[in-house]
Amino acid sequence: MSSCTSAETLEKHVYVLRLGHRPHRDRRITTHVALVARAFGARGLYLADVTDENVKQSIAKVVSRWGGSYFKVVDGVSPFEIIRQFKKEKSCVVHLTMYGLPVDSVIRDIVEKCEEILVIVGAEKVDRVFYDLADYNVAIGNQPHSEVSALAIFLDRLWQGREMSLCFPDAKYYIVPSARGKVVKPFE
Ligand code: SAM
Repeated sequence: MSSCTSAETLEKHVYVLRLGHRPHRDRRITTHVALVARAFGARGLYLADVTDENVKQSIAKVVSRWGGSYFKVVDGVSPFEIIRQFKKEKSCVVHLTMYGLPVDSVIRDIVEKCEEILVIVGAEKVDRVFYDLADYNVAIGNQPHSEVSALAIFLDRLWQGREMSLCFPDAKYYIVPSARGKVVKPFE
């Protein structure tokens, strides 16, 4: 396989806190939030307040085929307890919201100051308290779109594109990029 970025070389540890998940309605989009988190270099996803075995199993299947067993989905957590754990020196809580400050105006500060980052994304309306608890309220453009796109773009800005070549040494398969068709090879 060609040279790739291992998760260890992404020096910051990033976790995602998903608020407001409604198990039947949001299953697919929360799974996509977790997929983006894993693929773009985060270490895990916390699902606030509710449990959802379905989301956990979908991610476990992806991890078993494509690797990244360090990536954990932890459901049924208290968001306040998770945020409390990130309220220490060199740890930051970043809330993604269209009402926040433009990502390009704060990303340098975040890169310099935060060794560990909790990224909060919502589903529907996010409670005011999370805006107050966040160290940074960050907008990916000031228009409403999606938690999936917001997370992807935030992580890409954070890693400056290095996450694109992330590789997972415990994967069973890897993809050989090709102009047409699908080339998938097993690790020997
Ligand atoms: N108006 C809602 C709100 O309270 O932010 C938008 C909800 S949106 C469907 C779900 C989540 O996507 C938001 O909680 C936020 O995390 C993320 N999001 C949507 N647009 C965004 C943007 N422009 N910048 C950053 N995050 C955004």
